[in-house]
Amino acid sequence: MYRIVILGAGTGGSLAANRLRRAFSPDTASIICVDQDDQHLYQPGLLFVPFGLARPEDLVRSRSRQLHRDIDFRSGAVESVDIDERIVRLRGGEELVYDVLIVASGAVLAPEETPGMTGPGWMEKVFTFYTLEGATALERAMAAFGGGRIVVNIVEMPIKCPVAPLEFCFLADSFFRKRDLRDRVTLSLVTPLDAAFTKPIAARHLGGMLAERGIDLVTEFNTGEVDAAGGRLISYDEREVPFDLAVVIPVHNGAPYVSKSPGLGDALGFVATDQHTLQSLASPNVFVIGDATSLPVSKAGSVAHFEGEILVENVKRFLKGEALDASYDGHVNCFIETGFSKAMLIDFNYEIEPETGHYPSRAGLPLLKESRLNHFGKLMFQWFYWHVLLPGRDVPGVGSSMPTRGKTSPGEERRKKVTA
Ligand SMILES: Cc1cc2nc3c(=O)[nH]c(=O)nc-3n(C[C@H](O)[C@H](O)[C@H](O)COP(=O)(O)OP(=O)(O)OC[C@H]3O[C@@H](n4cnc5c(N)ncnc54)[C@H](O)[C@@H]3O)c2cc1C
Repeated sequence: MYRIVILGAGTGGSLAANRLRRAFSPDTASIICVDQDDQHLYQPGLLFVPFGLARPEDLVRSRSRQLHRDIDFRSGAVESVDIDERIVRLRGGEELVYDVLIVASGAVLAPEETPGMTGPGWMEKVFTFYTLEGATALERAMAAFGGGRIVVNIVEMPIKCPVAPLEFCFLADSFFRKRDLRDRVTLSLVTPLDAAFTKPIAARHLGGMLAERGIDLVTEFNTGEVDAAGGRLISYDEREVPFDLAVVIPVHNGAPYVSKSPGLGDALGFVATDQHTLQSLASPNVFVIGDATSLPVSKAGSVAHFEGEILVENVKRFLKGEALDASYDGHVNCFIETGFSKAMLIDFNYEIEPETGHYPSRAGLPLLKESRLNHFGKLMFQWFYWHVLLPGRDVPGVGSSMPTRGKTSPGEERRKKVTA
């Protein structure tokens, strides 16, 4: 009987647990999934709450109910892992011994690490929509906002869903236009990046879309302080951006127990992971999924979904003593809500930037292009999340690897332009 322990029952932990349950019968492996609470939040829905487009109560479901009945859900906080002794210690003293450990404890927000951020003015003038509490408080502030300067600030990378701050800007633009207030509101995106996004082709598209909507882009701004009373973001190199309302995406770290577990993770609490097999570099019987990895890939639910199939295959191979499957290619897929019931879709991997064309094949959704179909896809993702992604089901025609069918490579695009 193999003992498999999964730390975290969020997106990656739940889908990995459900896939593993199908891969191993209950008499060949016990599967324990630990989380600190029983409230599974559909995080992509947080984007819509500040604009009154989603109700907080519709985004939360019981974690244990997302897990197959033969998975042992344990409610408890992980305190530390002893990778030499193969033991997980929970707060309260309970110990779990494992043959294979899966780290799926995601990324944790640390707003208190930025001076001034959680001081006076927090949740009054300085908000985040990255938590349910923050998104709900921001809804009230947005509804009451009659005019002034709104800044959307990414304090530091990496963050979950790196396109969400852009989506917030696009939705804020349409929110104020619909209310006939847009000429009284200035909107700025303030980022530590040197462009609107990390990948150059998509960054050009997205930067152009910000400019079209009159949203300022302030780049290479490393926030050192949020001065709520004075209404200023202050960077380490002493630049300032004034605001009346700040929407800040705080520093993200790995779960604190990771850095308290000798040899498991780095100083920020992320776990060094083989980028193709998803085996940790800490120990061969530790695998990692989702935001908890230190992989050079977006922290996104779609990533956890694409990783799931390979991770489960590799747990099986590891337990049989076989060579691991090294086929995770860094596939990321993100809808970007752009306002007025339209959205864009980007699809990329470690090697290939987001390209134009269609996903997952020539007859699919348009890539790098705003459309109503993509907006519908973004809304449908919530149903897909609860009913396909978390149960760990395969989607016909959508595999783990990034598809190239239907994509126009930049080279082909250039050739077409020359011919035209
Ligand atoms: C505003 C916002 C919008 C987003 N939009 C999108 C989107 O459109 N598309 C997309 O693909 N992704 C999106 N994401 C990102 C996506 O939600 C995450 O990348 C995904 O949930 C990561 O899954 P995970 O399992 O790694 O982490 P999580 O789902 O966060 O799960 C981690 C779990 O570990 C638990 N945990 C942590 N520490 C401990 C501990 N010490 N003891 C016990 N349990 C612990 C937590 O309670 C949590 O349940 C968005 C995220 C946000 C915040």
